[in-house]
Amino acid sequence: MITGHFGLAAGVKSFARPVPLWALMLATVWLDIIFVPLLAAHIEHIDPVPGTKGGYGEGIIHADYTHSLLGALIIAGVTGLLAARWWGRRSGAVIGAVVFSHWLLDLTVHRADLPLLPGNLGHLPRVGFGLWKYPWLAASVEAALMIIGTVLYWRSARSTRAPGRRAAVTAAVMGLVGALTLALDLAGI
Ligand SMILES: [Zn+2]
Repeated sequence: MITGHFGLAAGVKSFARPVPLWALMLATVWLDIIFVPLLAAHIEHIDPVPGTKGGYGEGIIHADYTHSLLGALIIAGVTGLLAARWWGRRSGAVIGAVVFSHWLLDLTVHRADLPLLPGNLGHLPRVGFGLWKYPWLAASVEAALMIIGTVLYWRSARSTRAPGRRAAVTAAVMGLVGALTLALDLAGI
């Protein structure tokens, strides 16, 4: 899931005006960005669901550090504290919350592969509501998040001092990025 996360970030921008949009976009996929080098280093990995090609929603994701509940909370807390140094406390709290929102959104779509503790310490049960078992439903939720987020962003940007045309262009670009990431995700790229 990338598009759904972007949609949420766009929606957050509509009421957290002082936080730059790029920072919210980065924060919303921050756990996945940290996941990439760990994936390359074989510390975290993805296995296709048995009997599938490993396309959209067909992965068992062993991101046992970045996507563990405690790991996500720690990453969100540290990122929020760093952001607070640049943009102040309130914006830092918003960034931290957006970083953690990634785990909550992933929780809805992931098959039960998200551990509670880093490295799945103590072998506690893994969690995930498994919406990815119904790919079109999951994709529809992602698209809905993107549409709602983009509309919220556009409406709030239009009502501020920002020139209406710029707000419309940014909203359109976000909508396009959302559509593109969803299309790539569905194509299994
Ligand atoms: Zn993720």
